[in-house]
Amino acid sequence: MYLKSIELTGFKSFAKKSELLFTSNVTAVVGPNGSGKSNVAEAFSFVLGEQSIKSLRGKKGEDLIFNGAGDLPRANRASVKIIFDNKSKFLPVDFEEVIIERVVHRDGVNEYSINGSQVCLRDVLELLHSAHIGSSGHHIISQGEADRILNASIKERKAMIEDALGLKLYQYKKQESEKKLLKTRENIAQVESLRREILPHIKFLKKQVEKVEKTLEMKKDLQDKALEYCKREDEYIKRIEKNISGKKHPLEKQEKKLQEELSEAKKILEGAQHRDVMSDELISLERELHETRKKKDELLRQSGELDGEITSLARMIKKQEELANSYLHKTVTLVSVEVVQKEIEQIISDSKKLVPGDTWDQEKVDILIRKIDEIGKLLSDFIESNKDKVDTSLLVEAQKDLADLRRKKEIAASEAGDVIANEAKLSREYSALQEKINTEKDTNRDAEKAVFRIMAEEQEVRSQIHSLQSEEETLRIVKEDFNRELTELGMMLGTAVLQFESLVFDFDEPRANQEERRRTIEKIKIRLEDAGGIGGADVMKEYTDASERDEFLAKELTDLSGSADSLTDLIKDLDERLSNEFKTGVEKINQQFKEYFALMFGGGEASLSVISAPKRKKKEIDDLFENEDGDEMARAALAIEETGAESEDGIDIDVVLPKKKVKGLMMLSGGERALTSIALLFAISQVNPPPFIILDETDAALDEANSKKYGDMVENLSKRSQLIVITHNRETMSRAGILYGVTMGLGGGSKLLSVAFDQAVAVAK
Ligand code: ATP
Repeated sequence: MYLKSIELTGFKSFAKKSELLFTSNVTAVVGPNGSGKSNVAEAFSFVLGEQSIKSLRGKKGEDLIFNGAGDLPRANRASVKIIFDNKSKFLPVDFEEVIIERVVHRDGVNEYSINGSQVCLRDVLELLHSAHIGSSGHHIISQGEADRILNASIKERKAMIEDALGLKLYQYKKQESEKKLLKTRENIAQVESLRREILPHIKFLKKQVEKVEKTLEMKKDLQDKALEYCKREDEYIKRIEKNISGKKHPLEKQEKKLQEELSEAKKILEGAQHRDVMSDELISLERELHETRKKKDELLRQSGELDGEITSLARMIKKQEELANSYLHKTVTLVSVEVVQKEIEQIISDSKKLVPGDTWDQEKVDILIRKIDEIGKLLSDFIESNKDKVDTSLLVEAQKDLADLRRKKEIAASEAGDVIANEAKLSREYSALQEKINTEKDTNRDAEKAVFRIMAEEQEVRSQIHSLQSEEETLRIVKEDFNRELTELGMMLGTAVLQFESLVFDFDEPRANQEERRRTIEKIKIRLEDAGGIGGADVMKEYTDASERDEFLAKELTDLSGSADSLTDLIKDLDERLSNEFKTGVEKINQQFKEYFALMFGGGEASLSVISAPKRKKKEIDDLFENEDGDEMARAALAIEETGAESEDGIDIDVVLPKKKVKGLMMLSGGERALTSIALLFAISQVNPPPFIILDETDAALDEANSKKYGDMVENLSKRSQLIVITHNRETMSRAGILYGVTMGLGGGSKLLSVAFDQAVAVAK
């Protein structure tokens, strides 16, 4: 026994908490009309997840909540709790007891819980399906719906049987898979449309990217060529610069030297202009020398003359001396005599003063004598002195003259000596000057020659320097061009272009090659500029993003197609399984159906057959019901089938009553319909017994004899499923182990009580 109890609180007419314990295989719920018995059956549907409020006889969720009756106020929520014994683990959860509860609030919000944990409806449904329990259908036969299976369309029947066979889970999975497949297909369509949308943009971007790539290629090409060009140009400039400065330096040095030489030579030539001065000097020297020589000659002549005079005078003096030394011709000069006379007179005068008249004394005499002696002496001295004395007066004169002459001669000789010395000096000076002039004459000639030579050389050097300067100028222009090119290339290629330094090439090539390179570079630059610059990082990024997105979408598409395929496979699989299990299920049901049918009718034939019928269009249905009398329900059932597909599988029921030539369901009486229906329901339940079956007044239409047969079947059925029978039927009640009586209390609301069989019979009335 799986079903332990059900508890209703605020559900429909059950205002207060009411619990039914199912300790017996068959539980009967009895009570007067309107007491709330069907509400119990509906409580099962409710807690098992029924979503159709209509099938619970309500319009909205709120209708399921006790709405107040008599003294009892209305409830805010309706709750039904069902408890299963799960020791056998017939429910695939690891609990020995499973409590499922559903609550509905007045705002229509539903809550589900399994063993107190809030879950969603799906969890409940999945759990129950796996144990072959459903919210509606085969195991809860509502009041008046006993023959529903007979009234249903072939498709509905099929669904009911599938449900009963426990194929709902597969159905459910199939539906889920179909929903998923639909969603997946929608997604595929969306992704495809997205891809279609972005495709032109990607194509456009691709073209752009190709352009950018081409540009990048050109840029790379430009870079390679530019690097080589720059390196070569740089090298060329350096080489030429070095070459020029190598040549220019010695030339400049030479020029400087030549200038120095020139100025030296010029200086010399300037000196030549002083030559006249020197000539004048020479002339004056010449004149002076001439004068000096004249003077020298004069002096020599004078000296000669003086020599002559001196010789003759000396000769004459010699003669005179010879004369003077002869005694006879001695002469004294009157003057010398007068001198002696004067001296004598003086003595006499002095002597006279000694004899002033009166007396002579000896002394006076002595003095006088001495005076006389003096005179005598004087005279004797005079004679003596003149005895050897030569009259040299003339001689002296001559000697004096001679001396004069000699002095003159000396002077003249000395003068001549000076003049001669001067002459020698002047002569030397003259010679020197002459020599100088001559030398200068030579030097000037050399200098003149040098000037010509220097000027020629200088001209040569200058012209070489000039040509080097023009080379420099050309190089300067080359450098300027190169710098400009570098700037331009730098702007186009970035600093990478400046990394040419480290490159190595064979530089030995004609200059024209560089020109060729420059032209090529210029062409690439123009092409690059035409291509719209070197940007494009944005385009590349956008293209990468777009392609990545497209790739992502493509992958998504593959994934989606993959999951669509696997879903299709799964659906196919489920279909096959459904179809197989359905077929075998139907066969098994048929066996049971036959037996139950024979049992109920005491013979006859009954079978289910799987048929494929064309779908009927609405118009056909309408036509059908215009011609044939049919009830609204059948019409509605047919109307459900009006959808597109050409044909569909369904279940047809064939019955042949015993001893009657009646065939087909249409011909059955109400009771016969109920019996057939019960037979089929029981057959279904027998094939795949659900844990419990609820039969709400399924036996209402049975007569006593059939009630008994019904009772037997109930008993038979209860061996494999717990049965809860809502009934007014005494026979049915008699088969129940437990009886619950439902009454409408005085204060309002259904009341539940366990009753004995007799009480139950009483209560049921
Ligand atoms: P019968 O034997 O005639 O089939 P029953 O015992 O099956 O009757 P139910 O149909 O189960 O009776 O009960 C119907 C009763 O429940 C009605 O009296 C109805 O007023 C009451 N009822 C239904 N919904 C509510 C509700 N939300 N609040 C209060 N009472 C309700």
